[in-house]
Order: sequence, then structure tokens, then C-alpha cells
Amino acid sequence: MQLSEITAWLREDAPARLAELWRRADDTRQQHVGGQVHLRGLIEISNHCVRLCGYCGLRAPNAWLVRYRMSEGEILDCVRNAVALGYGTVVLQSGEDPGIEAAWMASLVRRIKRDTPLAVTLSLGERSDDDLATWREAGADRYLLRFETSNRRLYEQIHPARPGDPRDRLAILATIRRLGYEVGSGVMVGIPGQTYEDLAGDLRLFGELDLDMIGVGPYLEHPNTPLADPAQRPTAPDGQQVPATELMTYKVIALARLVCPKANIPATTALATLNRESGRELGLVRGANVVMPNLTPPQYRRLYEIYPDKACLAETGEACHYCLTARIEGLGRDPGAGRGDSPNYATRNT
Ligand code: SAM
Ligand code: SF4
Repeated sequence: MQLSEITAWLREDAPARLAELWRRADDTRQQHVGGQVHLRGLIEISNHCVRLCGYCGLRAPNAWLVRYRMSEGEILDCVRNAVALGYGTVVLQSGEDPGIEAAWMASLVRRIKRDTPLAVTLSLGERSDDDLATWREAGADRYLLRFETSNRRLYEQIHPARPGDPRDRLAILATIRRLGYEVGSGVMVGIPGQTYEDLAGDLRLFGELDLDMIGVGPYLEHPNTPLADPAQRPTAPDGQQVPATELMTYKVIALARLVCPKANIPATTALATLNRESGRELGLVRGANVVMPNLTPPQYRRLYEIYPDKACLAETGEACHYCLTARIEGLGRDPGAGRGDSPNYATRNT
């Protein structure tokens, strides 16, 4: 798709035209990844973070947040729960936490791979090439790292580099690919200062990176962050700011499906936070094919506050599971069996 065509879809508001976009995305999803909805058990293993991301409540300077790091035993209990609930994948996610030592993590991954049939997805931030290689050797299958925005200037404003550590997320994504992981990335929709052209560029970059997994969700303001302060918030020229809305997020999911037909694309919790009633379902009929039930123990879940009022904060893993499977079946779709590997990855590696 040409950049101008993507931009035109992002600006489209006519209901009949949007119905056409949803139909195209849903047909493409059915044709390339089928009707199954894959369930990934999400475990938020630590909310410690050394980064200064201007948008995120876990950022290091947020002194209001009580920090936690789960023990190996606690994580393995959640992993056993994932197996009992019939999931094919666990996603281990955290802030960028040097307290998660590479060798400790490798031993945990080895243990999960030895004792269960699960695929393991890691989302632990910008770790060194050595750490990423160690975890891949231990058996980790996939790595998620959103590039957040393809506009370099905006990226540097909202995601300051750590002193002495100039690595950027695109370079790390290249390393992740070279190491043989399934590669996942994505962006937030409606970041202050993000223009329609920026977002169209993000979608084009999804295609250029040939992503196996794409996570997109609306930007949701957290009061204890620089982006919540009008004096520090980047701005876009008049008429060019992308709104952080539910509708815009559906457009980005649908266009991501058209750009990367074989990728696994979740209907995210951030989307469900904007529309608790039917946000996930609408994502699933507009291009998405994955949901991520939260298996984090409730006492930690409320502390993993990247933005306020997150959907499904109080539910147990079981409650999340039954709610999500009922929603999937309500759409006439089936919860996926097996690991739900990315067909895009499989195609590239045959
Ligand atoms: N620390 C790891 C990282 O940054 O890749 C993984 C965890 S981080 C919380 C996962 C994602 O949450 C980020 O990539 C970002 O897109 C998203 N996120 C952070 N703050 C957000 C906010 N205020 N609104 C919406 N999404 C947010
Ligand atoms: Fe840390 Fe990730 Fe939040 Fe940035 S987005 S502050 S790296 S948890």
C-alpha cells in the first residue's frame, strides 16, 4: 500500500467506507491466519524499570509506585495455570529491569521449556545482545519490542536514551531477527505529537520489518508522566494530531492486517480499556486474531500500572480465561489449539 493510501484510510470517517475496510481486514485475516483466536497467558513478572519513557507509569522516576519482582516459584505457578487452562504460549513481560539477571531468566526459560509444551514470548525491554542470545539459546521462541513511533524526533522526545547507552529499538529488532526469534513490534496510537503521516509511516515500517507479531493500542495518559504535563507534551501542527481513540485503533489494526497478512495481531488490553464492553470483540472482527488473558496474580496486577484504570484489573487468571473464551465463542470463532506460531515466521523459514 502506498503511504498516501494508508494516510487516506487513517483520515477516513465515512461509515460505508470504514465498513469496507473492516470487511477487507476480516477477509484477509480469515484467508491468511484462519478463524482461530490464539490465547497468550500474560505474566507481568516485574514492574521495576530503569527507563524514562515519557508515557509510561512504570518509568523509573515514578516514586508513587510500589515496585515488585515475582519469584521463580510465583512465575512457575502462573505457568502451570497457563497449561491447565489449555494455553499454547506464555508471555513474560516486565519493565526494563536489570534485577532480572540474564542467567536467572535463562534458567527459568529452560525450566518452562523442559516441563511444558508452551511457547515462550519475552517482552523485557532493551536488553543487551548477549542477554537476548542467552535467552534464545535457553529456548525462548519470541520477543516483543514495540518501536513506539517511526518518527525519530518524536521517539527521542518521548523515549530518551539512557546516558551512555545509545542503542535504539530498530537495531535491537534486527538482532532479535538474526537470533531466530519470532519478531514482534508495534506502536501506540495517538501519542501527543504523532501526525497522520507518522502513523502511516509506522504501518509501512511494519511491512518493511516483515513482522511476525504486531501489537497496537491507544496511548492512554498516566498522570505521573511528563506527557501528562501540557508544558512538556509534544504537539502536532493544526489538524494533524492523531486522536488516541478506539476508532483510530481499529483502523490501525485493520491496516496492519492488510500490510502484514500473516502476522499474529492481538486485540490489546489498552483497547479493552477504552471499550470494556466490546473493544476486544471489535478488534477481533477488524483484523486481530490473538488475545492475551492476564495470569499475573491480582496483588501484582494492580501495581503493573502503565496507565490508569486498566481493563480486567481485579480478575483472577481463571476469571479472565472464562470471560475471554466466552467472548471468542460469542463471535463464532474457536480458541486456538497449540502454540499458535506465526504463519509469517513459518513462511520465512521454509
Ligand atoms: N518494558 C518493556 C518495553 O517497554 O518494551 C515491556 C513492557 S511496556 C509496559 C509494554 C508497552 O506498553 C510499551 O511498548 C508501550 O507501547 C506500552 N505503553 C506504555 N505506556 C503506555 C501508555 N501510557 N498508554 C498505552 N500504552 C503504553
Ligand atoms: Fe519501562 Fe517499558 Fe514503561 Fe518504558 S514502556 S518505562 S521501558 S516499562
